[in-house]
Amino acid sequence: MRRPRIDPLVWFYLGVTLPGLALLARIAQSVHPAEIPAALSSPVLWAFAVFLVPCELWPVEVPLPAGTEEMKTSAAFGYAILLTSGARAAIGAMVVVAVLGGLVRRRGIWWTTFDVAHYALALAMTAFVVSAGSGAPRALGDVQVDAGTIGPILAGAGILFVTVHGVNAILTALRNGLSPFAYMSRDFSFQASTAGVLMALSPMAVVAAHSNLIVVPLLGLPLYSVYKSASSSLGRERDALHDSLTGLPNRTLFRDRIEQATARCRRNGGILAVLLIDLDGFKEVNDTLGHHTGDVLLQQVAKRLEHNLRQVDTVARLGGDEFAVFLPDLGGLALAQETAHRLLAALQAPFHLEGISLSVQASVGIAGFPEHGLDPDTILQRADNAMYEAKRLKTGVETYMQGRDRASRRRLALSGELRGAVDDNQLLLHYQPKARLSDGAIVSVEALVRWNHPWYGMVPPSEFIPLAERTGVMRPLTINVLDQALRQIKEWSRLQLDLSVAVNISTQNFHDLLLPDEIDQLLTRHGVPPRLLEIEITESMLIADPLRAMHIMGRLSDMGIKLVVDDFGTGYSSLAYLKRLPVDGLKIDQSFIKHLPADENDTVIVRSTIELARNLGLQVVAEGVETVEAWDALRDLGCDLAQGYWLSPPLPADELLQWWRSWTARGERMAPGLGSSLPMPAPEAVPEAAAPPAARSLQ
Ligand code: C2E
Ligand code: CA
Ligand code: CA
Repeated sequence: MRRPRIDPLVWFYLGVTLPGLALLARIAQSVHPAEIPAALSSPVLWAFAVFLVPCELWPVEVPLPAGTEEMKTSAAFGYAILLTSGARAAIGAMVVVAVLGGLVRRRGIWWTTFDVAHYALALAMTAFVVSAGSGAPRALGDVQVDAGTIGPILAGAGILFVTVHGVNAILTALRNGLSPFAYMSRDFSFQASTAGVLMALSPMAVVAAHSNLIVVPLLGLPLYSVYKSASSSLGRERDALHDSLTGLPNRTLFRDRIEQATARCRRNGGILAVLLIDLDGFKEVNDTLGHHTGDVLLQQVAKRLEHNLRQVDTVARLGGDEFAVFLPDLGGLALAQETAHRLLAALQAPFHLEGISLSVQASVGIAGFPEHGLDPDTILQRADNAMYEAKRLKTGVETYMQGRDRASRRRLALSGELRGAVDDNQLLLHYQPKARLSDGAIVSVEALVRWNHPWYGMVPPSEFIPLAERTGVMRPLTINVLDQALRQIKEWSRLQLDLSVAVNISTQNFHDLLLPDEIDQLLTRHGVPPRLLEIEITESMLIADPLRAMHIMGRLSDMGIKLVVDDFGTGYSSLAYLKRLPVDGLKIDQSFIKHLPADENDTVIVRSTIELARNLGLQVVAEGVETVEAWDALRDLGCDLAQGYWLSPPLPADELLQWWRSWTARGERMAPGLGSSLPMPAPEAVPEAAAPPAARSLQ
């Protein structure tokens, strides 16, 4: 059985409190009641005790990422009492102020007990060091400052500083889940320059007390300067960690808070979440209403966010119109989503800015600890990722999802490498045959590009063509594809194969007025007759820009190139419109073909398309023919050509030749025109689209 782990904080608490209390008990036993009035009547004791109380009750505020830490300067005066009135008086005085401080500042019994025990131990250790060094009795009291004692007195000051502030630093570190060592080293110089300096002044305090008590109040001056410098450094720190416009924590402070909370959660368990909020359209507000109004809006947004969160949550402004919220102590990430929606709703209520009322839309990305990341940077980055998804999908709120991150990394990598891949000939073409339905003859093939990526393997065009369009690589890509296709046509014609090749072009190519000339040059260079090249243009491209379509298609058609409208049926063009364009054929989109002949609607659409197209003198191709039933139905409907997995998937040029040989061999063996008994495997042998039947039948 696993023993329950005890929190280091508990060990530390007990390790300080128990010996401290034991020591106090021994001191209490040794004190004779008759000694007390005499000690209390000492003016020197009171001269220092006057300082002790305010120093214990009003600590110096030390700026820290998690807020402020309190640093008490009382120990310096406790030390002065130790040297002038003895160890028992000093411990007694410190115990009294610690209890007083505990009561006034409501520290609670446990922490007050800790303070009491802690002071007693620290002073006892200091007394030991000073007496050992100076030869003075262990109880001290009335120590004179001279050449022999100054060293031990300063050493004692050092010990007291380390024991008091070191223990406090360890305590703060443990309570905040930080590494005590890292915490102390971060804080040391500040503590040494304030409390340490005060402590080192104690020999002077002793000299002053011995010569004339009137001088003692002057010790208030260095004390004042310590407070002053601490408060101004608090101000500076505040400025460095806060956004000046909204007063909210800035990125540095925000990150620090997450860091502390994640450290705490790692220790104690727990869930926390970060919400990144980006205002939509803030730039327009700034541009149209001016920067001042933009600033006022940001301030009001900050207030709204704050008002809609719990006390323990942190809102920060990370910059521009980007805010972030940190939710500690969550029961689950669903609560973070709830909060995100609540914040969005709060922002949508109109803001009133200089006579205008404005509602703000925003996008929120959520990432949580430990589910999405264990350190602040990962969590922030993933929240950012989710926020972009929320913007892209226009959903308002998105929680980080790992797969998406990987996908977007891959997208990014592919975008960056695409141009180089075109130059390095990493793009290659596969060819998918189109067969004449009446006799099964192969009359042309469609060239479909693939990217043979050195790392990702074969990347499909659906993944990189959109990237090429966005990154301006479409032109070199299409030229590369045309070049390869023409070389292949030439190769086949050397083998006496009079096969035409269809090449797809994209919207971007369609805006490229130089494209026809470029194609012309390529045809000449490869010595390929234009009738062997087909260009597939999607229906949506024709609708987007009819004038340009007319121009480019006119040029290509004049050159003798065959033009086919791809994905026909997915756009809203009419056949009457197509009639005005120099189109040679159309390819009915695969979505209408797939369910033939079972789907009656599709059958009706395909039938009427074929009829109208034939009336207009257009050749009709059906793509996505996956079954023998579809093949039969299309042949019966009078469609001209069919393309699809039932015949063959797109294949590399050499494999296509093999496939073709076996295809024609079968066709010749069987009587042509037998419909479903054409050289194909039985329908039930037709596998899913991914593993095409023709390829199988070759084995
Ligand atoms: P597309 O022009 O409509 O090409 C037909 C797509 O359908 C091809 O996908 C093909 O492999 C697939 N396909 C063929 N037969 C069947 C079938 O029976 N069933 C099913 N479900 N699918 C079938 P691929 O090769 O992944 O190409 C996707 C798209 O990428 C193409 O659609 C085309 O728009 C684009 N594309 C491909 N190569 C190029 C190119 O060189 N340039 C441009 N601009 N676009 C290209
Ligand atoms: Ca196509
Ligand atoms: Ca298509």
